[in-house]
Amino acid sequence: MQILITAERIQQRLDELAVEIKQHYQGQPLTIVGVLTGCLMFLADLVRRLDMPIRLALVQASSYRGAVTRPGELRVRTDLLPDLRGRHVLLLDDILDTGRTLVPLVEQLRAMEPASLRVGVLLHKEGRQELPLKPDYCGFHIPDLFVIGYGLDYNDEYRQLPYVAVLPMPSSSTDLA
Ligand code: 5GP
Ligand code: MG
Repeated sequence: MQILITAERIQQRLDELAVEIKQHYQGQPLTIVGVLTGCLMFLADLVRRLDMPIRLALVQASSYRGAVTRPGELRVRTDLLPDLRGRHVLLLDDILDTGRTLVPLVEQLRAMEPASLRVGVLLHKEGRQELPLKPDYCGFHIPDLFVIGYGLDYNDEYRQLPYVAVLPMPSSSTDLA
């Protein structure tokens, strides 16, 4: 397994992102909404650097290919969310790939009328995006490779690795979102 981003580089980059976030919000209370499950390491390491008023919330988004839903349709569990109306919200996910997860999610959160809504991702995969979205905070740009570790899984394994590594291409990576 080839390490693409070391644990040290991730932690250094989180220091920088935390400075950017603190500068932007200037002590205003922030609600961080993490997208399960991939966000967990990123979220946990980032929020411990944010000495400002923070609320944490989680949302689950999964693509279903079952008989009932259309192929690739995104199902969002917003019942895990508190009322976001009037709050400053930062949506965090592990990786922006095609945008099919984050773009509809951003639309759903916007409908909840937050005071502001920003997006942060640990990774942005180059050359894969189908739906337009420019993250406000981005840890690293990576080439079009299937990566694991630091929250990212292959069949729900490897999420706990402290670094991001390249997994030799599985046969159908599109089924893993
Ligand atoms: P998108 O909706 O932008 O195409 O993809 C977002 C989701 O696809 C991510 O939250 C993640 O679950 C999955 N994904 C995309 N690329 C990768 C990758 O390289 N590795 C892993 N483990 N998951 C990925
Ligand atoms: Mg995910």
